[in-house]
Amino acid sequence: MISIEQVLFPQLEELTSKNLRRSLRILETPQGAEGVIDGRRVINFSSNDYLGLAAEGFLCEAFAEAVKRYGVGAGGSRLISGTQTAHLALENALASFKKTEAALAFSCGYTTALGTIPALVGKNDIIVLDKLSHACLVDAAKLSGATLRIFPHNDLVKLDAHLHWARNKFPQAKILVITESVFSMDGDLAPLREIVEIKERYGAWLLVDEAHGVGVIGEEGRGWIEALGLGGRVEIQMGTLGKALGTAGGYIAGSRILIDWLINRARSFIFSTAPPAAVAVAATAALEWVQTSAGKERIHCLHKNLATLFQLCPKVLETLPRSAIVPIMAGDEAKALELAKDFLNHGLFVPAVRFPTVPKGSARLRLTLSALHRQEHLELVAKRING
Ligand SMILES: *Cc1c(COP(=O)(O)O)cnc(C)c1O
Repeated sequence: MISIEQVLFPQLEELTSKNLRRSLRILETPQGAEGVIDGRRVINFSSNDYLGLAAEGFLCEAFAEAVKRYGVGAGGSRLISGTQTAHLALENALASFKKTEAALAFSCGYTTALGTIPALVGKNDIIVLDKLSHACLVDAAKLSGATLRIFPHNDLVKLDAHLHWARNKFPQAKILVITESVFSMDGDLAPLREIVEIKERYGAWLLVDEAHGVGVIGEEGRGWIEALGLGGRVEIQMGTLGKALGTAGGYIAGSRILIDWLINRARSFIFSTAPPAAVAVAATAALEWVQTSAGKERIHCLHKNLATLFQLCPKVLETLPRSAIVPIMAGDEAKALELAKDFLNHGLFVPAVRFPTVPKGSARLRLTLSALHRQEHLELVAKRING
């Protein structure tokens, strides 16, 4: 009998030798523009907390107050143990923010995808997915058992060809197109208007993951779908509460019928303890705050920071970043690690991302901007970026 350690140890060693081994780093401070990582004070360019809400005072207070009112644990699945009003309030706030009939909250974005996609399509159906889609979308697509077709990133011609094939070969099948609005490792945007037109031609449905779009794209941070005025034409709008909204959880926004179906069929919703009500209260407070003038001002700060970084690094950043994610390409895994180390030695925390998060050989630094970064932070990082 071979032990689990005997199997795993050489595999870990192999990861190390290929510069693909990962390990956890200790963050001693709350998320923010500055922090202490592995004992070193750094400027933080690693977080998806784009609006600086993760440790925001009024949200911490809303959270603490809610714990007093609701307790800590939800005690069970919402279908079994009763739904707390906090979750319903969050879903109303989400539907109103996304301008949809209804919304459903999940414990995180990952489980949102895992529950939703297999609830909508199965083995007689087709999924057509952008190559750079997030791991949770890929995993959910595989779990559904549907036939999977991948189109090269943002390639409309290939998307059209896959849909043409699917519709002709399987006239009765449900066809689901899946993409993101802002791609998580490249920071670029999907050509959603064109994608909507194409999927409508073939009678396909569309799921768009706005994990990095909400709170970032558009003056009100409503995301790329809303910025293009496509709300009514995207059947399934997905997102997370753990990024720009600074809390935790995931959601689907869409029609009342879609949401009622997911309550009945999304397994990650049904067979999982509800998130703590206090998290829902904090997320609701974040969502409401984003829509106030202070919230809009914060979003404006983020947009200003993006423009400033671009001005400071015109040669390296050939186009104005369209989102808060700025990839700095390295190619080789070892080179990406070296670059990250060099940045860290200068007090700048910009993580390297490698396979399997990005394809082999396209390792990079993934720099994320926050509304809380100040001019001096941007100047320091720009100096390293420019070499
Ligand atoms: C982070 C992310 C998710 C997962 O959301 P969590 O709430 O962190 O589980 C889903 N999709 C995309 C595109 C993401 O970047």
